[in-house]
Amino acid sequence: MKRIKAKRFIRIGRLACLDFTNTAPLGSPARIEALHDFDDLLAWLYEERLIAASERRRGRQRWDAGHAARRAFARALVLRRTLRETVEKILAHRSVPKPAIAAISDVLAKMTGHWELTKRKTGFVLKFRPRFGHPDQFLGPIVESACDLLCNRDWSRLKRCANPACGLYFYDSTRNHRRRWCSMKTCGNRMKVAAFYRRQRATRLSPTS
Ligand SMILES: [Zn+2]
Repeated sequence: MKRIKAKRFIRIGRLACLDFTNTAPLGSPARIEALHDFDDLLAWLYEERLIAASERRRGRQRWDAGHAARRAFARALVLRRTLRETVEKILAHRSVPKPAIAAISDVLAKMTGHWELTKRKTGFVLKFRPRFGHPDQFLGPIVESACDLLCNRDWSRLKRCANPACGLYFYDSTRNHRRRWCSMKTCGNRMKVAAFYRRQRATRLSPTS
Protein backbone atom coordinates (compact mmCIF):
# COMPACT_ATOMS: atom_id res chain seq x y z
CA MET A 1 0.00 0.00 0.00
CA LYS A 2 1.48 3.33 -1.04
CA ARG A 3 2.22 5.73 1.77
CA ILE A 4 2.47 9.43 1.17
CA LYS A 5 4.30 11.46 3.74
CA ALA A 6 2.30 14.64 4.19
CA LYS A 7 4.40 17.77 4.06
CA ARG A 8 2.25 19.42 6.69
CA PHE A 9 -0.81 18.47 8.67
CA ILE A 10 -4.38 19.16 7.62
CA ARG A 11 -6.15 21.37 10.12
CA ILE A 12 -9.72 21.77 8.91
CA GLY A 13 -11.61 19.84 11.62
CA ARG A 14 -12.14 22.75 14.05
CA LEU A 15 -11.68 20.23 16.90
CA ALA A 16 -8.31 18.65 17.66
CA CYS A 17 -9.80 15.14 17.96
CA LEU A 18 -11.16 15.45 14.39
CA ASP A 19 -7.89 16.81 13.03
CA PHE A 20 -6.24 13.83 14.70
CA THR A 21 -8.48 11.32 12.91
CA ASN A 22 -7.88 13.33 9.73
CA THR A 23 -4.17 12.45 9.85
CA ALA A 24 -5.19 9.22 8.07
CA PRO A 25 -8.48 9.83 6.21
CA LEU A 26 -10.34 6.66 5.29
CA GLY A 27 -11.82 7.75 1.99
CA SER A 28 -8.64 8.82 0.22
CA PRO A 29 -7.78 6.78 -2.90
CA ALA A 30 -4.14 6.28 -1.81
CA ARG A 31 -3.70 5.63 1.89
CA ILE A 32 -2.46 8.92 3.29
CA GLU A 33 -0.66 8.61 6.59
CA ALA A 34 0.66 11.78 8.18
CA LEU A 35 2.00 10.17 11.35
CA HIS A 36 4.91 7.76 11.12
CA ASP A 37 6.56 7.95 14.53
CA PHE A 38 6.55 9.63 17.93
CA ASP A 39 8.36 12.65 16.51
CA ASP A 40 5.50 13.15 14.00
CA LEU A 41 3.01 12.90 16.88
CA LEU A 42 4.86 15.64 18.78
CA ALA A 43 5.02 17.77 15.61
CA TRP A 44 1.27 17.32 15.09
CA LEU A 45 0.48 18.21 18.73
CA TYR A 46 2.63 21.31 18.39
CA GLU A 47 1.05 22.36 15.07
CA GLU A 48 -2.39 21.81 16.59
CA ARG A 49 -1.29 24.11 19.45
CA LEU A 50 -1.87 21.38 22.04
CA ILE A 51 1.71 21.50 23.33
CA ALA A 52 4.27 24.29 23.54
CA ALA A 53 7.52 24.33 21.56
CA SER A 54 9.43 23.66 24.80
CA GLU A 55 7.25 20.58 25.55
CA ARG A 56 7.83 19.26 22.03
CA ARG A 57 11.59 19.79 22.39
CA ARG A 58 11.72 18.12 25.80
CA GLY A 59 9.60 15.21 24.55
CA ARG A 60 12.02 14.61 21.66
CA GLN A 61 15.12 14.89 23.81
CA ARG A 62 13.82 12.63 26.54
CA TRP A 63 11.96 9.87 24.70
CA ASP A 64 12.14 10.11 20.95
CA ALA A 65 14.18 6.94 20.26
CA GLY A 66 13.04 4.93 23.30
CA HIS A 67 10.69 2.00 23.78
CA ALA A 68 8.25 4.09 25.83
CA ALA A 69 7.87 6.55 22.94
CA ARG A 70 7.34 3.74 20.43
CA ARG A 71 4.68 2.21 22.67
CA ALA A 72 3.00 5.60 23.16
CA PHE A 73 2.97 6.11 19.39
CA ALA A 74 1.39 2.67 18.88
CA ARG A 75 -1.24 3.63 21.48
CA ALA A 76 -1.85 6.89 19.63
CA LEU A 77 -2.68 4.97 16.44
CA VAL A 78 -5.07 2.69 18.33
CA LEU A 79 -6.68 5.76 19.90
CA ARG A 80 -7.06 7.31 16.44
CA ARG A 81 -8.91 4.24 15.20
CA THR A 82 -11.12 4.34 18.31
CA LEU A 83 -11.91 8.02 17.76
CA ARG A 84 -12.74 7.37 14.11
CA GLU A 85 -15.14 4.58 15.10
CA THR A 86 -16.72 6.92 17.66
CA VAL A 87 -17.19 9.66 15.06
CA GLU A 88 -18.67 7.16 12.59
CA LYS A 89 -21.14 5.94 15.23
CA ILE A 90 -22.23 9.49 16.01
CA LEU A 91 -22.65 10.22 12.28
CA ALA A 92 -24.77 7.07 11.95
CA HIS A 93 -26.88 8.14 15.00
CA ARG A 94 -25.71 5.05 16.87
CA SER A 95 -24.52 4.96 20.46
CA VAL A 96 -20.85 5.53 21.27
CA PRO A 97 -19.21 2.12 21.87
CA LYS A 98 -18.40 1.28 25.50
CA PRO A 99 -14.79 0.25 24.65
CA ALA A 100 -14.26 3.74 23.19
CA ILE A 101 -15.45 5.35 26.42
CA ALA A 102 -13.15 3.02 28.39
CA ALA A 103 -10.19 3.83 26.10
CA ILE A 104 -10.77 7.57 26.58
CA SER A 105 -11.06 7.12 30.36
CA ASP A 106 -7.79 5.13 30.40
CA VAL A 107 -5.91 8.05 28.86
CA LEU A 108 -7.61 10.52 31.22
CA ALA A 109 -6.53 8.41 34.21
CA LYS A 110 -2.89 8.77 33.17
CA MET A 111 -3.03 12.57 32.90
CA THR A 112 -1.28 14.70 35.48
CA GLY A 113 -1.17 18.47 35.69
CA HIS A 114 -3.08 21.31 37.27
CA TRP A 115 -6.10 23.48 36.71
CA GLU A 116 -5.61 27.13 35.82
CA LEU A 117 -8.10 29.98 35.93
CA THR A 118 -7.53 32.79 33.44
CA LYS A 119 -9.50 35.95 32.72
CA ARG A 120 -10.25 36.86 29.14
CA LYS A 121 -12.23 39.68 27.57
CA THR A 122 -15.24 37.38 27.30
CA GLY A 123 -15.00 36.12 30.88
CA PHE A 124 -13.23 33.52 32.98
CA VAL A 125 -11.83 30.32 31.51
CA LEU A 126 -10.92 27.22 33.52
CA LYS A 127 -8.33 25.11 31.74
CA PHE A 128 -6.38 21.96 32.59
CA ARG A 129 -2.64 22.37 32.08
CA PRO A 130 -1.23 18.89 31.48
CA ARG A 131 2.24 17.84 32.57
CA PHE A 132 4.17 15.52 30.27
CA GLY A 133 6.17 13.21 32.51
CA HIS A 134 5.64 10.10 30.35
CA PRO A 135 5.17 9.69 26.56
CA ASP A 136 1.65 8.25 27.08
CA GLN A 137 0.58 11.59 28.57
CA PHE A 138 0.89 13.25 25.16
CA LEU A 139 -2.40 11.54 24.26
CA GLY A 140 -4.12 13.54 27.00
CA PRO A 141 -4.87 16.72 25.01
CA ILE A 142 -6.32 14.65 22.13
CA VAL A 143 -8.64 12.82 24.49
CA GLU A 144 -9.57 16.09 26.20
CA SER A 145 -10.78 17.32 22.79
CA ALA A 146 -12.75 14.08 22.31
CA CYS A 147 -14.40 14.69 25.70
CA ASP A 148 -15.25 18.21 24.59
CA LEU A 149 -16.98 16.72 21.51
CA LEU A 150 -18.85 14.13 23.59
CA CYS A 151 -19.82 16.37 26.53
CA ASN A 152 -20.28 19.89 25.15
CA ARG A 153 -20.82 19.93 21.41
CA ASP A 154 -23.84 19.77 19.13
CA TRP A 155 -23.42 16.44 17.33
CA SER A 156 -25.58 17.56 14.40
CA ARG A 157 -22.63 19.78 13.48
CA LEU A 158 -20.25 16.87 13.23
CA LYS A 159 -19.80 16.09 9.52
CA ARG A 160 -17.84 14.12 6.97
CA CYS A 161 -16.79 15.95 3.81
CA ALA A 162 -19.50 15.62 1.13
CA ASN A 163 -16.94 14.31 -1.34
CA PRO A 164 -17.29 10.53 -0.87
CA ALA A 165 -13.65 10.05 -1.93
CA CYS A 166 -12.39 12.40 0.77
CA GLY A 167 -13.24 11.08 4.24
CA LEU A 168 -12.15 14.13 6.28
CA TYR A 169 -14.23 15.07 9.33
CA PHE A 170 -15.00 18.53 10.61
CA TYR A 171 -17.14 20.33 13.16
CA ASP A 172 -19.37 22.80 11.34
CA SER A 173 -19.05 26.06 13.22
CA THR A 174 -20.61 28.19 10.48
CA ARG A 175 -23.57 30.31 11.54
CA ASN A 176 -26.04 28.62 9.15
CA HIS A 177 -24.69 25.02 9.66
CA ARG A 178 -24.27 24.63 5.91
CA ARG A 179 -20.62 23.73 5.60
CA ARG A 180 -20.36 20.62 3.39
CA TRP A 181 -16.71 20.40 2.39
CA CYS A 182 -13.43 19.94 4.17
CA SER A 183 -12.23 22.78 1.99
CA MET A 184 -13.94 24.77 -0.74
CA LYS A 185 -10.61 25.06 -2.54
CA THR A 186 -10.18 21.29 -2.88
CA CYS A 187 -13.25 19.07 -2.51
CA GLY A 188 -15.84 21.85 -2.84
CA ASN A 189 -14.48 22.94 -6.20
CA ARG A 190 -13.76 19.43 -7.40
CA MET A 191 -17.30 18.29 -6.68
CA LYS A 192 -18.82 21.42 -8.20
CA VAL A 193 -16.77 20.91 -11.36
CA ALA A 194 -17.78 17.21 -11.46
CA ALA A 195 -21.46 18.17 -11.06
CA PHE A 196 -21.07 20.78 -13.81
CA TYR A 197 -19.63 18.22 -16.25
CA ARG A 198 -22.34 15.70 -15.31
CA ARG A 199 -25.02 18.32 -16.11
CA GLN A 200 -23.27 19.21 -19.39
CA ARG A 201 -23.12 15.55 -20.38
CA ALA A 202 -26.78 15.04 -19.46
CA THR A 203 -27.74 18.04 -21.60
CA ARG A 204 -25.71 16.72 -24.55
CA LEU A 205 -27.24 13.25 -24.28
CA SER A 206 -30.84 14.36 -23.82
CA PRO A 207 -32.88 14.33 -27.02
CA THR A 208 -33.52 17.80 -28.43
CA SER A 209 -37.12 18.71 -29.02
ZN1 LIG B 1 -13.00 16.82 1.36
